[in-house]
Amino acid sequence: MNKKMDLLKWVFHIIVFFVAFIFILGEFILPKEIKNDTHFELFEAPWKMIRQDGTTMDIRIPGIYPAERNEIVTVETVLPEDIKENLFLCFRSNRQDMELYVDNELRQSYSTEKSRLFGHSSPGAFVFLKIKEGDGGKTLRVTYQTDTAYSGNLQEIFYGDIMGIWSYQFKERGEELIVAILLLILGIISILGSWGLHFCYHKPLELEYLGWGVTFAAFWMIADSVFRQLLFPNISAVNDMAFVMVMLLPFPFLIYMNEVQKRRYNVLYVVISALVALDIVVCITLQFLNLVDFSDSIAVFAGFCGISIILIIVTCIMDCIKGYIAQYKLVAIGVLGAAVACVIQLVLYFQRIANSSGVMIALGMIFLLVISCINTIRDIFHMENEKKQAIYANEAKAQFLANMSHEIRTPINAVLGMDEMILQESKEPNVLEYATDIHNAGKTLLSLINDILDFSKIESGKMEILPVNYDLSHLISDSYNMVAKRAEEKGLEFILENDTTLPCKLHGDEVRLRQVLVNLLTNAVKYTKEGSIRMSVQGKRLEDNQLLLQISVQDTGIGITKENCEKLFDSFQRVDEKRNRNIEGTGLGLSITKQIVSLMQGSISVDSEYGKGSVFKVEIPQHIVDDSPVGNFSLKMDAIIHEIPQTKETLIAPEGRILVVDDVDMNLKVFFGLLKQTQIQIDMVSSGYEALEMVRTKKYHIIFLDHMMPQMDGLETFKAMKQLKDNQNTETPVIMLTANAIVGIREKYIQEGFSDYLSKPVQRKQLYNIIRKHLPKEYILDSEEVPLLAKEKSVEKVEVIEEVEAIEKEENHNVTTSPDLFTVFDFLDTKTGLMYCGDSEDFYLEILKTSLDNDRTSLILEAYEQQDWQQYGICMHSLKSTSLSIGANKLSERAKALEMAVKEERLDYVQQEHDSFLKEYQELLQKIEKGLVSLQAGNMHHRP
Ligand code: ADP
Repeated sequence: MNKKMDLLKWVFHIIVFFVAFIFILGEFILPKEIKNDTHFELFEAPWKMIRQDGTTMDIRIPGIYPAERNEIVTVETVLPEDIKENLFLCFRSNRQDMELYVDNELRQSYSTEKSRLFGHSSPGAFVFLKIKEGDGGKTLRVTYQTDTAYSGNLQEIFYGDIMGIWSYQFKERGEELIVAILLLILGIISILGSWGLHFCYHKPLELEYLGWGVTFAAFWMIADSVFRQLLFPNISAVNDMAFVMVMLLPFPFLIYMNEVQKRRYNVLYVVISALVALDIVVCITLQFLNLVDFSDSIAVFAGFCGISIILIIVTCIMDCIKGYIAQYKLVAIGVLGAAVACVIQLVLYFQRIANSSGVMIALGMIFLLVISCINTIRDIFHMENEKKQAIYANEAKAQFLANMSHEIRTPINAVLGMDEMILQESKEPNVLEYATDIHNAGKTLLSLINDILDFSKIESGKMEILPVNYDLSHLISDSYNMVAKRAEEKGLEFILENDTTLPCKLHGDEVRLRQVLVNLLTNAVKYTKEGSIRMSVQGKRLEDNQLLLQISVQDTGIGITKENCEKLFDSFQRVDEKRNRNIEGTGLGLSITKQIVSLMQGSISVDSEYGKGSVFKVEIPQHIVDDSPVGNFSLKMDAIIHEIPQTKETLIAPEGRILVVDDVDMNLKVFFGLLKQTQIQIDMVSSGYEALEMVRTKKYHIIFLDHMMPQMDGLETFKAMKQLKDNQNTETPVIMLTANAIVGIREKYIQEGFSDYLSKPVQRKQLYNIIRKHLPKEYILDSEEVPLLAKEKSVEKVEVIEEVEAIEKEENHNVTTSPDLFTVFDFLDTKTGLMYCGDSEDFYLEILKTSLDNDRTSLILEAYEQQDWQQYGICMHSLKSTSLSIGANKLSERAKALEMAVKEERLDYVQQEHDSFLKEYQELLQKIEKGLVSLQAGNMHHRP
């Protein structure tokens, strides 16, 4: 396909060259086909000049003859006998009023006296006299009169038809008009372009002024051209405009250059610009009052143009000397080009080589404008690039922070989990003390990492507000509970008061709202040594069933100074550090709080007295769902506190029914193993289709659904389930199982309609927590609540478990003398593997066995050979998590890289890696097999 396109490009170029060739051949080499039947010649005749005082002399026209201002100059000649009727004689008025008589009969006159607004003379124009039959041999008399210095300035006379005369003018001075129109177009484009860019980038562009300058110049050239009487109905007005344009001309150029030179010579520019402005005002006033015509003050503003040009050139030279010129090299080249063009124009003018008044100047300006446009576009390009890089760097930073905090969270959870086991199991006071320290430090570290994760989410715009219906009293009691213990430990009184008529159910993001409150309450406790914390919950009813929730948290702590209050909500800003150095914190809490509050369209404020205490107030609009009064919180509090389930390491729910859907057997096994002790009834299926079958026949309390599955993936299954008519589980919470543990994923799945998500490899504690959250409370048996039978059973079970454990211990003892699990599987990260198996070695070994049964080699090979990249990606995705859960970290990493490569269509990477990956996978399986065999042999050998 690519080659065909290249060929087409060639064909295109050949056609273009061919067409150009035909055109050039036709127009420049082949003979002329149409002869224009026009007539044109210069009218040359012996003229007699009669001055007002009666003196006469023979003259030739064109020519300049002495005459006074306002003097009526009369010239006379006899029309040739052979002069043709219906042709024209064309006279040029050089600001003169004219009258043309043939044998004393007034045939034509030209004067703008009655039609002009200002001034004392008529603007220059062509005056046409039509020859009538029998005019040959008659006397032609022409009078010239003007209130300017041009009285005796008599210009050429043409003879011919209209077409011939204008064609001649166009040949002589047409290029001037064309260049002027081009200049006008470029000028207007520059102005509009600058405005557009100003609008897009919120940055004024100096190019606009150059655009104005060029537009003025172009307009002046057009208004001053010999063709103006063809273009404008009132040439007096146009003539005035032309003068005003010339007067204005220096202004935009001065502003432009001053900006380009970064206002280094501001004083000079301001002075000259002010003088130009003054000149304009004076000249316009004099013209309007009919005191002095523009044509008489032309020398003054021509002078200002000259001064402006000199100023620009001198400052450029000074910048050259000082080395600043490098900052605006391109513009300087443009200025140089324009200056050279002006000089050439002057030379041409004085040498009388060209009579066009400004073609070279116009070309110079076009050069300057084009160069400046290139410069501006380059600057913008540069700016855009820098902006992109900055955004990219920032995104990368936020992503890195998000990934890091996510990665760090996993091991911290493991540490905290292990530590909790020590706290539960150890009786040694020393060990308990150390474990408590680990627990505290771990919790701090975790909240810090959570803060960073939130911060990076906000930074990268991935923080979303997910509103749900919630109980106001639960929100308050949850927040209260989370800090009450710390307040009590510090001996602080914790007061809770509220408007009892507030609605009991609201709609909003409960999770984020709780985060805000807990943040404020934690700070209040942190920064208060003695006294009390008071949380007050009020509300204001708004329109449309909305409530402005007003919560204030007041403390009697160290307080904040006025100036610090302003910095408080900035990221990483800790205030009064000297005093607070013993208090842990990052300075992120309030910044996150503020950003969350504004995401919820609310506001936060602080009022504090240094040394006495602070009050933080938040106001957030929430939708009212149920308007029944919430009642008194503090009375309810005790009751509520007891309602809150405490996180426990154990979970028993024999009546709970869950469905797990995952295409990888091993994952199902892990799931089953982790939930073994809970006695929950678990159904497991390995595809979306089977899942649809199951939800039709049985009602579950929770459904766990894997995301990446072949054929019908988790999302599709979920959607199909929703549409299923006889689905018994329309209300059942569905939890997404995913190995895509990335920022924003929770929000994404929740938006899709999932109730939650659980990241793979699944960890026991998280699994238990999620089950606690979504399994109806009545199905969870607390030890006290276990009915007698069940209790007896569980007592029995405990005994059995203890017995089993005793045996296991003994076995373990034996194992230590036989080949050790850790040494046999030294090629695996056995610790991580064990962690994912709830620290059960047996379970781990079982999972290792399953990984052998679950050999994916043939599937991978098949997908690779058939180039079924979707299937290949799914294989890699599942290998990523299954290998991680047995501790084959490196293979998991490689699978992850291959999954990404497939996703991003980097097939060359896949091709490059495929063989060696499979080899590593094979070797791993072989090693596992060997290990299992040797472990079994060892055990057999050592067992009695
Ligand atoms: P940190 O993690 O340092 O607590 P925050 O963003 O939550 O970060 O708070 C920023 C700073 O504001 C704190 O370092 C502290 O100096 C000050 N501050 C916050 N809350 C209070 C309060 N209730 N009383 C006094 N100072 C406070």
